[in-house]
Amino acid sequence: MFRSLAAQKSLPVRRYLATHASIPSASTAITRHDWTRHEIQDLYESPLMDLVFQAASVHRKFQSPNKIQLCTLMNIKTGGCTEDCSYCSQSSRYSTPTKASRLLEIEPVLEAARKAKENGSTRFCMGAAWRDLAGRKRGFERILEMVREVRGMGMEVCTTLGMLSPDQARQLKEAGLTAYNHNLDTSREFYPQVITSRSYDERLSTIDAVRDAGISVCSGGILGLGEKDEDDMPEHPESFPVNALPVSYHTLVRTIATARIVLPTTIIRLAAGRNTMAESEQAMCFMAGANAVFTGEQMLTTPCSPWDEDKAMMDRWGLEGMQSFEQDNVARKERSATDLPKEVHAKEDASAVPSV
Ligand code: SF4
Repeated sequence: MFRSLAAQKSLPVRRYLATHASIPSASTAITRHDWTRHEIQDLYESPLMDLVFQAASVHRKFQSPNKIQLCTLMNIKTGGCTEDCSYCSQSSRYSTPTKASRLLEIEPVLEAARKAKENGSTRFCMGAAWRDLAGRKRGFERILEMVREVRGMGMEVCTTLGMLSPDQARQLKEAGLTAYNHNLDTSREFYPQVITSRSYDERLSTIDAVRDAGISVCSGGILGLGEKDEDDMPEHPESFPVNALPVSYHTLVRTIATARIVLPTTIIRLAAGRNTMAESEQAMCFMAGANAVFTGEQMLTTPCSPWDEDKAMMDRWGLEGMQSFEQDNVARKERSATDLPKEVHAKEDASAVPSV
């Protein structure tokens, strides 16, 4: 699914007859979990207007097309990471302007979460730049407390803390974690060219531990790293973040639309780089199936669009903010959590969003 800009330029664009017979239809796409790489590639290469139209059709069958989830992301530990991810400004292996800091105390994080909630964000994500939690017992306890407190505010809580053991995933779930972000970054074949300090299989192990603990998975990749043409996702994540940098706009729209068709119940999040896009460009992304944005003051290390601008834009386009746990497949995972507020259970029962 992930395509490089360079690779895309070298590919012949396939043209289809007006019947579009070779493009899988929305009606066959919506319940499928067996997409082949070839089919995904065909979708990705189809004429862009057809692709966006199909994606918008699938979006309307599975999700509320006028709902956008507002998420706020906070770095709780910045820079100084020992990993060598070639795209990352937080790696200590490269010379970047990002300054390393220690893990934040609990209260400033809770203050940021309260502000995010007041401004309409329903998911609060916390990111720490390190390889894993080994040797960080006290830091992990602090993070567990952050998760409990933010969840207690009624928000969905997501963390990205590097590699996790099954026991660490279980503790995060018990603390109330909704989702864990762990991007696959790129394909297995291309992985060693992007990261050498860990393996693709280690990445998959953490995703397995997260799933086994009953936590929703947020996982995607960064486009434009030179991947092969035929990469795909091994399993549907509940959330799929898409970074707009450093790819061309039409590559971004193709990726969102293809992801929407293949992952009809997944929330597709427009992540880093959205602040560089014109409002009309963002609207096309929403039409293609993106239904979450990061909003607030700052993403991990890149600027993001502020709440007031986003609210004004959403008003102009008739878009509404999504409630916490409104996504059906996220809410379903929460049903087993004993601390879920009663009103959330009631909302789930009344949910009109179709499920698969
Ligand atoms: S593990 Fe995360 S923080 Fe560390 S270098 Fe890679 S992307 Fe950056």
